Amino acid sequence: MSEQMERIKTLIIGSGPAGYTAAIYAARADLKPVMYTGMEPGGQLTTTTEVDNFPGYPEGIDGPTMMMQLQQQAERFGTEVRIGMITAVDFSDEFGGIHKVTVDDSQVIEAETVIISTGASAKYLNIPSEQRLRGGGVSACAVCDGFFYKGQEVAIVGAGDTAAEEASYLANICKKVTMLVRKDYMRASKAMQHRVNSIDNIEIKYNTEVDEVLGDQVVEGLRMVNNETGEKEEIAITGLFIAIGHKPNTDIFKGQLDMDETGYIITQPKSTKTNKPGVFASGDAQDKIYRQAVTAAGTGCMAALDAERYLATVESKETVES
Ligand SMILES: Cc1cc2nc3c(=O)[nH]c(=O)nc-3n(C[C@H](O)[C@H](O)[C@H](O)COP(=O)(O)OP(=O)(O)OC[C@H]3O[C@@H](n4cnc5c(N)ncnc54)[C@H](O)[C@@H]3O)c2cc1C
Repeated sequence: MSEQMERIKTLIIGSGPAGYTAAIYAARADLKPVMYTGMEPGGQLTTTTEVDNFPGYPEGIDGPTMMMQLQQQAERFGTEVRIGMITAVDFSDEFGGIHKVTVDDSQVIEAETVIISTGASAKYLNIPSEQRLRGGGVSACAVCDGFFYKGQEVAIVGAGDTAAEEASYLANICKKVTMLVRKDYMRASKAMQHRVNSIDNIEIKYNTEVDEVLGDQVVEGLRMVNNETGEKEEIAITGLFIAIGHKPNTDIFKGQLDMDETGYIITQPKSTKTNKPGVFASGDAQDKIYRQAVTAAGTGCMAALDAERYLATVESKETVES
């Protein structure tokens, strides 16, 4: 049975900046990587029009083009890119052990090393006007898109540390930031609350939720509702930032890999090693702090180098023992 299974040296799960960078390095190291793209080929950046902060693009570049170029670069060195979802995994506990991975609930393949780069998904409010204006002024990434609203009035939804951090970031760039907090208190740490409270151009509205994002093609305003009184209020804004959390795409690894309480894969310090030998994690799936394309690419590079060193150690051990 197992003789008929396909055996891959380095399997890469996910086709965002982390996955493609891992693929470029792994292919150049002759690890003959095979990548499964998942349901979003190219990853999160395919949902944005303008990437202005990735080094090497002085004029900026649109997300889908950048990801197509990364794919071409990975394929140039021999990466095999396959359309498909990894739906189950069975990771070995043994050093040098073989990992079994199921593709699209049907085919099982074997891999000597696995690089996980399944990313994360931003949570949205999921109201129709917000969904319609995603990419037209509604964003889930202040660090990525805040610059486009320089000198303008924006709003941010959220009450945790990330929301507070992003509100402070936006306040540096924008004329005014209205912060919508659903409860009558913020979840953010006391230090972060103090920071947002001390910034003059941040106005915090408690017990307040989004009723509707206003605008036809782009965001022109926001109708808010006080969830205690039912009172509605409209403000003119050009950007709405949603900062209510991210969900790492790691459900299929639960029970096999060590994760934190929100599902981010835990890697060893200064490495991409997980708790399973030969399984490495890169990009947003293991990073809840930075969540940028360039940091994802950086850890993708690390994962490929870690996989290469691991395989070399396995091979030299086998040679000594034989
Ligand atoms: C709207 C928006 C704009 C952004 N703008 C910028 C920006 O301007 N600059 C910047 O630096 N960052 C930006 N970011 C953040 C950036 O996109 C992410 O940090 C980066 O894409 C993370 O890369 P990743 O490779 O870890 O994962 P992702 O890009 O999230 O890719 C994950 C990949 O894994 C695949 N996958 C998931 N599950 C499976 C599975 N079971 N089997 C197989 N494949 C699977 C998916 O299909 C996808 O291909 C933006 C994000 C968003 C949402």
